[in-house]
Parts: sequence; C-alpha cells; structure tokens
Amino acid sequence: MARLVKKFGGTSVADIDRIQAVAQRVKRARAEGDQVAVVVSAMAGVTNQLVGYANTISPLNDPREYDVVVASGEQVTAGLLAMALQQQGVPARSWLGWQIRFRTDDAHGKARISGVDDGELERSLAAGEVPVVAGFQGVTADNRITTLGRGGSDTTAVALAAALKADECQIYTDVDGVYTTDPRIVAKARKLATITFEEMLEMASVGAKVLQTRAVELAMKYGVRMQVLSSFDESPGTFVVGEEEVVEHELVSGVTYSRDEAKISLLRVADRPGVAAGIFGPLAEASINVDMIVQNVSASGDTTDLTFTVSEADLERAVDVIRRNREDIGYGDLLFDPNVVKVSVIGVGMRSHAGIASQMFRALAERGINIQVITTSEIKVSVLIDEAYTELAVRALHTAYGLDTR
Ligand code: ASP
Ligand code: MG
Repeated sequence: MARLVKKFGGTSVADIDRIQAVAQRVKRARAEGDQVAVVVSAMAGVTNQLVGYANTISPLNDPREYDVVVASGEQVTAGLLAMALQQQGVPARSWLGWQIRFRTDDAHGKARISGVDDGELERSLAAGEVPVVAGFQGVTADNRITTLGRGGSDTTAVALAAALKADECQIYTDVDGVYTTDPRIVAKARKLATITFEEMLEMASVGAKVLQTRAVELAMKYGVRMQVLSSFDESPGTFVVGEEEVVEHELVSGVTYSRDEAKISLLRVADRPGVAAGIFGPLAEASINVDMIVQNVSASGDTTDLTFTVSEADLERAVDVIRRNREDIGYGDLLFDPNVVKVSVIGVGMRSHAGIASQMFRALAERGINIQVITTSEIKVSVLIDEAYTELAVRALHTAYGLDTR
C-alpha cells in the first residue's frame, strides 16, 4: 500500500464529466490498495475570472479581500469532487485551507506556507475517507484567508505530501510529463522518465511552466518524490526526484527558451567603482529584476560598455529609470532591443563534464547564429540571441546534445 497525494489541475476538473473521471481514477487507486488524499485547483478559467472581477472593482483592491474572492474557485471543485466520490461509493469529504490549517504568512496573493496541521487529515485517512483539499489557499495567524500565488495548488500538494509523509505527490495535468524541449517547436522532443529537482527548477525559471517553482523548491527541501502525469491517459509521466535517485545522467536533459527578454546596453559608462551600483540600485528600487549582465573591460581605461537583460514587460520602465538617473550614472548612449530570446541548456551532468558550453557555441555558430550575451550556472548555460532564430537554435541544440527521439 502506498500513500499518495494526487493533485488535479484546472483542466483536469474543467467540467462535471471530468470531475467524475477524476473520482473514478481515485476510486481505482483505492481499489488497488493505495491510500489517497486529493488536492484540487479551480475549474479551468475560473481563477482568471475571479481575478478579473476583483480588478474591475479596483486594481488597487484590498489584498485580503482579493484572496477571499480568488480562493473561492477551489472551494467549488473540492465540494464537487467530494460529492462525486460519495456518489461512486467512496467515503470522502472536502477540506478548505483554514479547516486543516494551512498556516501561512500574511503576504496576501503570494503567501508562503509556514506549517500544516495534519492531525485531522490523518484521522480522516485512518477512517478510510478520501480528504479532498482545496489547493492554493491558507490562513494567517489572525484568521484571514490567503492564496499562494498563481499555480499555487502545486505547492499545496507538495506541502501536504510532506506533512503526511506520502510516498509520492502526483501532479495530474493536461500534458503527460516534462519534455526535453517544447514539443510545439521540436517534433522530436521526448518525454523524460526522470528529472532532478534542480533541473526542474532551472527549467521552470526559464519558461517551462509545468510546475509552480515554489512547489519544486519545497519538494527538494523535504525530499518529496513528484510525478507529473496526464489526467487524460494512463501512461506513466515524468518523475521529479533527488539527484541521488538518478543512476545515469544525460549531460544535458533539456533545452529551454524564454522570449520574454529585453536587452539594454549602456555605452561609454565611466569605469570606476560604484557605477554598477548606480545603475542596478535604482532598477531594484523600481522592483525591476535584472537577469543576465555583461560588462566589458575598458579599452581606453576610462569608459566601458555594459549590457543586461530585463523581462520584456519591464523594458519601458527600466529605460525610463535609467534615463532619469542619467546624471548620476553618466553614460554616452542607451540602446535597447526587445527582439531577443534566451536559450538555455540544462543538466546536472554538466557539473562533472567539460565542454558542454563550447558544444553549444559551436552548434549555434554552425547555423550562423550570433551570441549576444552568455551566462552560466553550475547546471545551466544560457545565451541571448536574436529572437528570429529561436526555433533554429532550439532545434540545433536539441540535436547537438543527442536529445532527438530516435
Ligand atoms: N487556481 C489557481 C490558479 O489558477 C491555483 C492553481 O490552479 O494552482 O492559479
Ligand atoms: Mg498549474
């Protein structure tokens, strides 16, 4: 007997037929002897609609009331699934965040879980019931409803799996796993049988939106085995596990891209201490995240060029902040370009292998693709290139690292 937490995303509970199919799936798992706790998202589209209502009243609404409104989608699906299970002869009951007590801080709209009181759920499981938990929500110390940030039901599921010491946290969604790259771009993309937490985190941070980043961080911290799988078929999905569980690492396990990048260059910046602080300080104050940064050595000895990237949505504001601080920073020219894409190759295998980066640069050079900025981490190499070459670059790299389906 395994103890499983099964989380069903919005598309998996999008209408009554699908909710009934979920109930059947849970019933089958129980028939096979597994103990099951369920976490549900709101029906597809519902959370967006609720956010829309709140923002129509005022974009500057009270965040505590915003959370009361947007948390309600999950309440509906939890109740409906508990009913559907009962209808199929499976004892079940719904649980809202405050009833279990998913304790969180008071950062409304993006609250962090500080603890889960699992006593009631243990009793419910011991009594042979299926607890159906509303995802995405918690409660503050002073009894206000919170939500965990968009996609937060994943985090609910992992936190629950950790609290219940579940054998596995299964994330049911509308894709059947994690792929080596975006199958819409590369027909030869293949489903990974396993991926490590760290690789998954890097992939999520560069655009692969399968799991909420925080859920993966939490799973890594508590060693919760996850599986991403489809609620529409029976095939096994992708396991997200600790590095020690993976016997043989591919050097590169995925190629990702993010089009949401913009490049800013400051030419002829004074080459003296404090200049970088003078540029990035005001950007940070404006809550603008800077990602890649390159600064050249200065040829003349007194000025240098500096290039960095921000998300495309922040470009206009970033340019404005820099122009307003022109006197303090002191630069010759300001150039910017939203037509860039960040392409990354990711793999824990590169820790122990040299040459991964040069292989990437060679593959791009062979296609005549110019690299504008490069950054690396222990398990990732990223390059910034012209957006027009996105598909070409991703396909070339996918082939170069031997990831194509055979
Ligand atoms: N319903 C919430 C959202 O759409 C939480 C989730 O689905 O994970 O963001
Ligand atoms: Mg999701």
